[in-house]
Amino acid sequence: MPPSVLIVGGGIIGCATGYELAKGGCRVTVLERDTPGGEASGAAAGLLAPLGESRDPGAFQALAVESWRLYPEVVAELEAGTGMNVEYMTAGTLYPVLDAGELAVARERTTWAVAREFGVELLEGARVLEREPALAGSITAALFVHGDHWVNNERLVAAYAQAAAERGVVIRSGVEVSEILIDGGRTRGVMAGGRRLEADCVLLAAGAWSRELMTARGSGLPVGPVRVQILSVPNSPPLLTHAVHGRSVYLVPRPSGELLVGATVEHVGFVREVTDEALEHLIDEAVSLVPGIGERPLLRSWCGFRPWAPDSLPILGPWPGVDGLFVATAHYRNGILLAPITAHLLSACVITGRAPALLGPFLPDRFISSTP
Ligand SMILES: Cc1cc2nc3c(=O)[nH]c(=O)nc-3n(C[C@H](O)[C@H](O)[C@H](O)COP(=O)(O)OP(=O)(O)OC[C@H]3O[C@@H](n4cnc5c(N)ncnc54)[C@H](O)[C@@H]3O)c2cc1C
Repeated sequence: MPPSVLIVGGGIIGCATGYELAKGGCRVTVLERDTPGGEASGAAAGLLAPLGESRDPGAFQALAVESWRLYPEVVAELEAGTGMNVEYMTAGTLYPVLDAGELAVARERTTWAVAREFGVELLEGARVLEREPALAGSITAALFVHGDHWVNNERLVAAYAQAAAERGVVIRSGVEVSEILIDGGRTRGVMAGGRRLEADCVLLAAGAWSRELMTARGSGLPVGPVRVQILSVPNSPPLLTHAVHGRSVYLVPRPSGELLVGATVEHVGFVREVTDEALEHLIDEAVSLVPGIGERPLLRSWCGFRPWAPDSLPILGPWPGVDGLFVATAHYRNGILLAPITAHLLSACVITGRAPALLGPFLPDRFISSTP
């Protein structure tokens, strides 16, 4: 019989994996101390850009591309099941090329094995502004990745949560887990709100807060927060039709009328604050790429905490030495992109007890010298 599973954390990773586990016949409860999607998963920009986020065609790229391939089917399934529109866009991303070094990198990317599947093209001269007239005239080259997608991540988490609930997943908001219960080398459940909740398996998907629960057990899970600040301006009348990814800012036009301008990268701990300096920096950088942004008023600004591990890669799979305990965290810049593949691989792992090969480079073992 498929196991019962308690999931700690109702971000996109917890909700998506809960949904997949329920499809596999598991009895699932998601425990979320606030509201589903209320942290990084709601704060994100929703870019689904495996190539732009890959330094080379290695294990991360393979994982990200697999997730990207799942997206059309996942979106269709969630939208059909929930009636929600998650604003899934497939117009592609432009990566402006600003110097000779970037040109060399862009040229190399056109040769990557997956370049053809993604429709990677180096635009030069007049072709840049023909593709996106709002870009600054000084930009004379850009890598265009036709296959990059984006999504409204707030709606996507809500859709995953609703679809999961329709499959029988119990989503409990306002319930904080204080301890993972382990006895005789296997997990027994969790303590939440002063009560003992039992299950065959526990999946820790508490984003940037995942470390606290493992540290309480004396086990090292090296995940911490990277603060990210982001803002939006109106995209009506439409300024951009593609996403634009520069050196230190990206611009994401949402069909609902917002143009997102992100994002800072700050190792300042859990300081929940939006600063004037950061907003000025984001606007200056955005205007240097798309001058018209300077004429748009600020709509809103916010910050969130990306879950980050020291090697910037996700931590996914069974926790060594504790039967029934799994982790899915540290998705850092790409948790929205990686949600479908994380959900598929982790649910397979929980149900079969075996970690699929694609998880190999991301197993928690890489940080653990001795089992607890
Ligand atoms: C501004 C910003 C822009 C981003 N842009 C992109 C992007 O364009 N594309 C992309 O792919 N990714 C992007 N990301 C990264 C992405 O948002 C994250 O990697 C992803 O959301 C992580 O999901 P998660 O479910 O692990 O974490 P979270 O969404 O943070 O969810 C963790 C949940 O666990 C809950 N929790 C914590 N502790 C406990 C506890 N003890 N008990 C119960 N519940 C608990 C929290 O309340 C939270 O809801 C961005 C992130 C930010 C902040």
